[in-house]
Amino acid sequence: MTNTTLTLNNEVTLPAIGFGVFQTPADETATAVAEALRAGYRHIDTAAAYFNEAGVGKALRASGLDRSEVFVETKLWISDYGYDAALHGFEKSAAKLDVEQIDLLLLHQPLTTRFDLTLDAYRALEKLYADGKVRAIGVSNFMPEVLAELLEKTEIVPAVNQIEVHPYFQQRELQALHAEHNILTQAWSPIGGVTIYGDGQKSTLENETIGQIADRHSKSPAQVMLRWHLRQGRSAIPKSIKPARIAENFDVFDFELSTDELAAIDALDTGVRGGPEPSAITLENYGMPIPEA
Ligand code: NDP
Repeated sequence: MTNTTLTLNNEVTLPAIGFGVFQTPADETATAVAEALRAGYRHIDTAAAYFNEAGVGKALRASGLDRSEVFVETKLWISDYGYDAALHGFEKSAAKLDVEQIDLLLLHQPLTTRFDLTLDAYRALEKLYADGKVRAIGVSNFMPEVLAELLEKTEIVPAVNQIEVHPYFQQRELQALHAEHNILTQAWSPIGGVTIYGDGQKSTLENETIGQIADRHSKSPAQVMLRWHLRQGRSAIPKSIKPARIAENFDVFDFELSTDELAAIDALDTGVRGGPEPSAITLENYGMPIPEA
């Protein structure tokens, strides 16, 4: 199976489908990532705040793959914002991942109540990029107005904004802003993981429209959603700890959705996010120390 390759705004390339490890317990991460690498994934998404970067590093080393063969992406947590703290945040993540260079480093959240710290953290990413410590830099959960302010006040246009995108929450306006600035949209909860625990509404995995499309192609709902992301030019980072699902989520390169099917999925947007409102994330309620390596 061949993964679709995407090119960032600085010409760095990455496999469109990556492997997510949010909520993967630290002691199960190396096994899950090893399974993903066996299945063919060559792009892993973790974060300092997932407390499992060391497991990712362990699996990378054990795989025997050359460092250049796997695209490694991680995110700095808000507790490490500010210029010097973010530089040190990179050192902590790189040491846990056991890599010299990180392929893509993101700011995990905008801190709207302390945007000064957010901007300084981004300036640290710019410095790390200039020094060759990271191959690309970006952000996550940046809403349109926050992204606009970042673009105005910093030098390097982020390569990526990793945001919640699945059929129930599509953020088309934000995606259009990304396209205007050549920022790649990377979908978190791409198969609607965040909708599983929703209030009464069936999760995207149980949605009838998606189920019917899946039946027509002899594919699963998860595969249909991943194909929808690929067709619309996004990167997507599905998570699983189950080998069969890890393989299933990578088996998405041999079928195509029709224009009508894509439109039917587009029509499922509710405009309601599953995750927290990004502006509600503050140091007071979400701050937590990120341990040294
Ligand atoms: P996903 O959309 O990837 O869904 C994951 C959930 O679906 C898990 O409960 C998993 O369970 C289950 N699942 C996986 N594959 C299948 C399948 N084929 N059929 C049925 N169920 C399946 O949601 P996530 O929220 O985990 O998002 C993916 C990644 O995005 C994260 O791991 C993380 O890397 C990133 N992320 C980033 C955020 C940010 O703020 N930047 C926020 C949230 C996520 P099981 O493991 O038991 O298979």
